[in-house]
Amino acid sequence: MPPNEPCPHCGQVILDWHNEWYNAAERAAIYRGQAAMDCPLCRRAVLWFESRAIAAPPANAQLPVYQRSATLAAQWVPVRETTYVNLVAHHPAGQQYGGYWQQSEVQQADQQVTKP
Ligand SMILES: [Zn+2]
Repeated sequence: MPPNEPCPHCGQVILDWHNEWYNAAERAAIYRGQAAMDCPLCRRAVLWFESRAIAAPPANAQLPVYQRSATLAAQWVPVRETTYVNLVAHHPAGQQYGGYWQQSEVQQADQQVTKP
């Protein structure tokens, strides 16, 4: 969520903005318009609050821009898709996030989640 909204900066349609990959406090701030998400492709600040469309912040906005958590993303995948283990490499929802985190971050997150 929210799905299939184009980025106001680079114009790429993002299959899923994955605001659920932020922690609860960050997500709440984003929803209140007090912080911005970043585009997984161009990494520029994007607002999404109160269920309105994805939008670029005003030019003079001084909002914090939060980055999604690789760990939350890795935890999210087995809940939704038990057949996928390695999120960013293999899951369709993660494909646009392939360059979003460092490879080492992704491996660490996957290991944390898949450890018994
Ligand atoms: Zn973009």
